[in-house]
Amino acid sequence: MSSLDPALLEEIGQLRADLDDANYRYYVLDEPTLTDADYDRKLQRLQQIEAEHPDLISPDSPTQRVGAAPAEGFPEVAHAIPMLSLDNAFSREDIIAFAQRVAERLECQPEEIEFSCEPKLDGAAVSLVYEQGVLVSGATRGDGRTGEGITSNLRTLRSVPLKLMGGTLPELVEVRGEVIMRHAGFEALNQRARDEGSKVFANPRNAAAGSLRQLDPRITATRPLEFHAYQAARLEPDMGDTTHSALMARLSQLGFKTSAELSVLQGPDAVADYCERLGEKRDQLGYDIDGVVIKVNDLRHQRELGFVARAPRWAVAFKFPAQEEVTLLNDVEFQVGRTGAITPVARLEPVTVAGVTVSNATLHNADEIERLGVMIGDTVAIRRAGDVIPQVVRVDVEKRPAEARAIVFPDQCPVCGSEVERLEGEAVARCSGGLYCAAQRKEALKHFASRKAMDIDGLGEKLIEQLVEQDWVKTPAELFHLTVEQLKSLPRMGEKSATNLVNALEKAKQTTLPRFIYALGIREVGEATAANVANHFGTLQALQEADTPALEAVNDVGPIVAKHIHTFFRQPHNLDTLDALIAAGVVWQETEVAQGPTPLEGQSWVLTGAMESMTRDEGKARLQALGAKVAGSVSKKTTCLVAGEAAGSKLTKAEELGVEVIDEATFIERLSAWEQSE
Ligand SMILES: [Zn+2]
Repeated sequence: MSSLDPALLEEIGQLRADLDDANYRYYVLDEPTLTDADYDRKLQRLQQIEAEHPDLISPDSPTQRVGAAPAEGFPEVAHAIPMLSLDNAFSREDIIAFAQRVAERLECQPEEIEFSCEPKLDGAAVSLVYEQGVLVSGATRGDGRTGEGITSNLRTLRSVPLKLMGGTLPELVEVRGEVIMRHAGFEALNQRARDEGSKVFANPRNAAAGSLRQLDPRITATRPLEFHAYQAARLEPDMGDTTHSALMARLSQLGFKTSAELSVLQGPDAVADYCERLGEKRDQLGYDIDGVVIKVNDLRHQRELGFVARAPRWAVAFKFPAQEEVTLLNDVEFQVGRTGAITPVARLEPVTVAGVTVSNATLHNADEIERLGVMIGDTVAIRRAGDVIPQVVRVDVEKRPAEARAIVFPDQCPVCGSEVERLEGEAVARCSGGLYCAAQRKEALKHFASRKAMDIDGLGEKLIEQLVEQDWVKTPAELFHLTVEQLKSLPRMGEKSATNLVNALEKAKQTTLPRFIYALGIREVGEATAANVANHFGTLQALQEADTPALEAVNDVGPIVAKHIHTFFRQPHNLDTLDALIAAGVVWQETEVAQGPTPLEGQSWVLTGAMESMTRDEGKARLQALGAKVAGSVSKKTTCLVAGEAAGSKLTKAEELGVEVIDEATFIERLSAWEQSE
């Protein structure tokens, strides 16, 4: 340590302070000051210094949020002060009665009492303990007396300070609060889960609780969680705060996010008005709240009032109406989205959920229907929260009538009649009439005209929308029949721009086969795949006729992409559109496939570990040039595994499966021999 450059120590200190400050401003104050690029640059610099001087790493360094190894389980943590639950209030009368009980014990009038009110967040309650300003432990509420130690997971939340801010820090602080997930983050997380076919969470509260109880903190780190402090359970030494609201201001100074909605109000009427106002705002907050926590603000009064059974006498939770209601599922209809995804929509017996009449709810996809086990005629629980689309969360199977019907996915697109494609392992069913389907028209045209596709200059998003709305263009082929006369009648389109567009369309007709294939918008056929397919087959005719094994022989084309391509060219409407495009004058140079010797035709290779003489991409390119397929993982079909330095699980797998394994030297020898024979 002593030999260290003082300038380096100063730099570390400065970097940590800057990063802590940026975190605080971004995650606690919602007022970002540093750009993401600057933040990353500073973090990388700090990581670099710490990597060179590991003895300088301290647990409260911003680099140390994610780092703990996956746990076997969570240790039990006894709460020094129990985490109690609150009594509930459901009406203005209940609030007035609560204030009267308090007033009687304090021997004063209810109107004289100051109450601190804040939203009751609907997430997972946790407790954080700081010693000498540094986070030492974090735990779930558990049964209130004993929780689970989830310190490593809580450290990954950027709104949880690893180190407290300010001048004189208390020796011991225990902060309690709620970990929540905002609606936007919750929706994105569930969408990702649906796309991957994994488990979805019923609501943001379950998502927050489930994310906190991951054994691997790296998973928790990817979840959009926020910590909001609502109580200082212990603060030593006493810093002279005499009210709950002053304590919350203290927590805010120490670096915690506290409620922006916190208000100190006098008397029960003002409190009841606050509850009413917050209830009206509830849908606009962007996160779930289920009520208002009302506390006697004066800490001396709190101590005087004390506890009854397991609840404090000085606080009450006002509860909002439930966001879940039960109703009947009358029917299911299928909607086609703009990218062809087919979504089942439940038609419900109208029901009022948290003040709004709900008659439709999404069922997302076939997996979700299966997970819920729902049938038409069932009694279902509907959840509606804020801006989140109402959804079916549960089925009451016991109330199922004898005439209940299974929900059957259509085989044909309800909009255009094309075949519905649903691949194994994929949650979403899609219409395969991409070039023709009215529901997908705008997206298909936007893609067709885009720069890397047909590159039609001047044909932007707005214009495409106008063309579709005028019903002038139903398929891409019809673009080429637009006239200057027609176009110039559109708003904000002069003769000059109309002429330019017609010229651009004329010019775009001269294209290449890879561009043309890419422009068709076949699912999962990006630019690179389109180029590989074009080079492999040489002509559109050959591609159209290829069966799935022939398609899978193309580099980078796996069974799923092969299936997409195959299905696309089996839809009569798509073929009609292709013919119409060619009839309209779209042309490209067709090439004969180069028929060089391909000694590795039909073989599948895998590269793993580091090689000295070339990168893995170079190795891959050389193998592909010899006709081999190069895969990302080892399977029974693998011909040979090239194992470089520090090869890991792929090597083990290959050995288990009895796949041939060769080292770098052998690989180079064989490569040169094959390349020379070519
Ligand atoms: Zn369709």
